[in-house]
Amino acid sequence: MDALPPSIQGDELISTDPATGEVVGRVRVTTPADLDAMVERGWQAFHQSGWKSLLPHRRALVLQAIADGIAAEKEALATLQMRDNGKPLAECRGMVESAIGTFRYYAGVCETIETDVTPQRGDYVSFTVLEPYGVVACITPWNSPIMNDATKVAPALAAGNAVLLKPSEDSPLLAPELARIALKAGLPEGMLQVVQGRGAEIGAALVAHPGVRMVSFTGGTTTGRAIGRTCGDKLIPAALELGGKSPHVVFADADLDHAVAAVVAGIFGSAGQSCVAGSRLFVEAPIYDEVVKRVIERAKTLRVAAPDADGVEMGPLASFHHRERVIRFVDRARSEGGNILCGGAVPEGADYARGAYYLPTVIDGLPTESLTCQEEAFGPVLVCLPFRDEADLIAQGNATAFGLACGIWTESFKRGWRVGRALEAGSVWINTYKQSVTTTPFGGFKNSGIGREKGIDGLRLYAQVKSMYFGLHEQPLSVAR
Ligand code: NDP
Repeated sequence: MDALPPSIQGDELISTDPATGEVVGRVRVTTPADLDAMVERGWQAFHQSGWKSLLPHRRALVLQAIADGIAAEKEALATLQMRDNGKPLAECRGMVESAIGTFRYYAGVCETIETDVTPQRGDYVSFTVLEPYGVVACITPWNSPIMNDATKVAPALAAGNAVLLKPSEDSPLLAPELARIALKAGLPEGMLQVVQGRGAEIGAALVAHPGVRMVSFTGGTTTGRAIGRTCGDKLIPAALELGGKSPHVVFADADLDHAVAAVVAGIFGSAGQSCVAGSRLFVEAPIYDEVVKRVIERAKTLRVAAPDADGVEMGPLASFHHRERVIRFVDRARSEGGNILCGGAVPEGADYARGAYYLPTVIDGLPTESLTCQEEAFGPVLVCLPFRDEADLIAQGNATAFGLACGIWTESFKRGWRVGRALEAGSVWINTYKQSVTTTPFGGFKNSGIGREKGIDGLRLYAQVKSMYFGLHEQPLSVAR
């Protein structure tokens, strides 16, 4: 591992393929002076390019052209993301499709979004319009770059803003491709620029920059809190999509074939590097042993392989240093007294020697209060807990700082409704898991975030409401009214 190149050398950021350790590409790191110039260019584009005053249906044409541009390079982009962060090619293809769908959807929102004519209470007509903020910062993590970039950039542009997009230093290669495609599609120069480099340095400088008027962030809770503090000082809005420790619940009346398949997919898909990973499995006590046994059997047969191998189900983790974090997480679970029921190790053999692989891992025997049950592994690590009844489940399910998502398996729709309403989560999946569509709001309760992306309000996130009044009075206004 020490032989791997550091991710920043001189003024270059180096992307390393986590399946092989090979260098995939290099980008130039943004300096503080570059950042000043980019913010200035963003404001110039905002004021002078005509984008903000373009009628929404004209903006929609450009967003559609960006979607076409991504579609034309679908396979190349999916392959690049696979090499940039190690996700299986099939998942990367799905993420490129999602990015295309997101640009098309926000083109549609441009065409259809409505503002309000507000009730008249005097001699005037009043209504609202949406105004862009100006230059906004979008900061994305490494787990699904093209998809996360699109989720922020499409509505931010649709609302008329100029965007500074900061991808993670661990997956820097997709954002420049998106900016290139957008420019080719007719987006005015300067409306989408990419900031590269370390989050703690240039990312923090971007958030703190006086020229940035709004921040949209997806990433870890600690970083989100720091960004929220800076935005609070600046009195600018921050939309924060943060981490999770989502409960995935199986009641005794559930369809167990479906439930077990979903539990396995919910945690081991994307090698667990998903904010909505169902990382805490709760099983009703009478069927606990059977469900856990079936989950372990399936976890042991998952095909862990190179991201482009036939039939691959789990690729490597996104970086070698992230694998170190996962190893430490499982070591701590051991020291807390957890039973490692499967996995808990780096796989052996020539196929895995060069990559950041880790085995699907299932743990039990720990109480809800343990750090293993409280903190996010952001890797292929499932912790299993039994529950007695609904009250016990709800108490344990809500006993973390997070509140991003949950899954509930039961044949009783009334119980699904009750438990779904009682669990503190931004997304509730009943007899399904990890569905996420661009038309439906997404975000977290508690430490999982503030604000909702996606859906029509995903555009409003990047706009400020202005109230307009047209006077109709026949007499001059008097001082005392
Ligand atoms: P981080 O919070 O470390 O990083 C996320 C992004 O923020 C990266 O671009 C990072 O840059 C940047 N960044 C880091 N520090 C700062 C800072 N001080 N100021 C501004 N930007 C900064 O998270 P991870 O990259 O480790 O991503 C994993 C986390 O993201 C998990 O906790 C996961 O749950 C969460 N996540 C949440 C999602 C959601 O929608 N709720 C979706 C996906 C992930 P750099 O990488 O260069 O340091």
